[in-house]
Amino acid sequence: MKAVTRLILILGDQLDLQSAALKGFRRETDEIIMIESANEAQYVWSHKAKIALFLSAMRHFDKSLKDQKYPLTYIQESSLSIIEVLREQILQKKISHLVCIEPGEWRLKQSIEDLATELKIKLEILEDEHFYCSPQEFKKWVADKKEIRLEYFYRLMRKTHNILMDKDGNPEGGQWNFDQDNRKPYPKKGPGLIDAPKRFEPDEITQAVLGFVEKTYKNHPGSLESFNWAVTREQALEALQYFVEYRLRNFGMYQDAMWIDTPFGWHSIISSALNLKLLNPREVISAVLLAWKKDASLELSSIEGFIRQILGWREFVRGMYYLDMPQMALDNFYEHQRALPKWYWTGQTQMACMQDAVGQTLKYGYAHHIQRLMVTGNFALLAEILPSQVCDWYLAVYVDAIEWVELPNTAGMALFANGGRFTSKPYIASGAYIKRMSNYCGTCKYKPDIRFGESACPVTTLYWNFLIKHRTQFESSPRTRLMTANLKRISDSDQLAIQAHAQTILNNLDAL
Ligand code: FAD
Ligand code: SF4
Repeated sequence: MKAVTRLILILGDQLDLQSAALKGFRRETDEIIMIESANEAQYVWSHKAKIALFLSAMRHFDKSLKDQKYPLTYIQESSLSIIEVLREQILQKKISHLVCIEPGEWRLKQSIEDLATELKIKLEILEDEHFYCSPQEFKKWVADKKEIRLEYFYRLMRKTHNILMDKDGNPEGGQWNFDQDNRKPYPKKGPGLIDAPKRFEPDEITQAVLGFVEKTYKNHPGSLESFNWAVTREQALEALQYFVEYRLRNFGMYQDAMWIDTPFGWHSIISSALNLKLLNPREVISAVLLAWKKDASLELSSIEGFIRQILGWREFVRGMYYLDMPQMALDNFYEHQRALPKWYWTGQTQMACMQDAVGQTLKYGYAHHIQRLMVTGNFALLAEILPSQVCDWYLAVYVDAIEWVELPNTAGMALFANGGRFTSKPYIASGAYIKRMSNYCGTCKYKPDIRFGESACPVTTLYWNFLIKHRTQFESSPRTRLMTANLKRISDSDQLAIQAHAQTILNNLDAL
């Protein structure tokens, strides 16, 4: 047995041959370890497609590393946790130096640090180079801020990295943000023909994984029938190119639009590839900028709208995650305690909007941002669900869900669980918003404009109930005062009826 000096741990969401962990790799004395652990699939009740995506991408990466003759121990289908396997391997191989890239989950990072202390070995945690902004830089930026807001961070990123800036140092098009142009619903007669996103037929490795997951995790939620996610870097690059060529054009305009059985809209569907590190955000932004340079008919609002998601939101939420953990996972500003309705796991509800958003989530492991924020997220906040249960659901059901990006979006943005640490107001809406942005309400048993009574839309009832209940909080801020101003148009007796009906709904969430 060779004497191993450094053990390089590559986690399932760190699948990059250019990784900082592989720089300066010494083949004679270093060794890589990758671990498939059942714990990772089970600590939340993960969607089968999410488990399959991670395993397939890991096995393809294992193959790439072996093709390049890296010395590698790949532990397949272990029933132990990552930490338990690591402990065994470190002791067996007499490792004194463990190297890894910053894990995307606080819990795992802590456990690795604890293990290194326990075994008295050197631990080197390297910066993840797949981001523009490091947690340290983010912390420094926050230090002198009264309010932490995406918009100012995003402007800084644009300036620092010279992205969408003109030669005089001003934002392209004379404004930083084209958000107002990114909120259109589809035309009344429907979205028309949308170029389907690039999908990939399962190869031999993926098929073996699908069989394994179906057998081992048969009681887990979701389906594998539609599984054709990008599982290699080559496929991820293809998916990116396909998006840029065919779908970017309408991304901006219809970013927030929803329509029954239109699961992907004009979205890029690259979040899982980005989060597994099959793609680097820099190459994503370069590809989009290049397309814009070549094709003058591409609108700046689409380009800026897309870049804002990657350079703005993605970096921002990561900064917030490392800044606020572990508190972020415990926050519960409104002290909500209700259990998540069972239909979040089945899609079997009479609310057409939830049926569609949850249904496609279970089918593909995907829903787009507005479905996550303004359909399932909005409902969970209005229905006063315990934030940790909601966060566990999001972490379980989306193929792109890794805690650094899932938790700030769910707890911080959708649930206002941190009391507005980085958002100026809770993102809440009544059925009227869903009606405006989709065709869901047309097929629904409930009526979005009715506030109480049998045919009232539960989203609408709970929205007004929430405003009545938190009126003082909403009236204390100029950003939210307008929302409660509308309450003045609702008579006292109707407000009482809304509250009574809301109570009935809240007591019977599973029956909706
Ligand atoms: P597009 O709409 O095409 O956007 C392009 C890219 O921008 C995405 O691929 C993603 O990398 C990035 N992006 C867009 N919005 C955000 C955002 N708010 N935060 C971070 N990155 C963003 N995204 C995840 O990657 N993993 C999650 O677990 C996750 N959980 C979410 C939970 C909630 C409650 C909400 C409201 C949002 C969540 N998001 C999450 C953000 C966003 O919904 C997804 O990134 C997006 O839907 C992925 O689809 P897409 O690749 O087609 O994205
Ligand atoms: Fe959803 Fe209400 Fe519209 Fe039904 S009426 S689809 S519950 S918003």
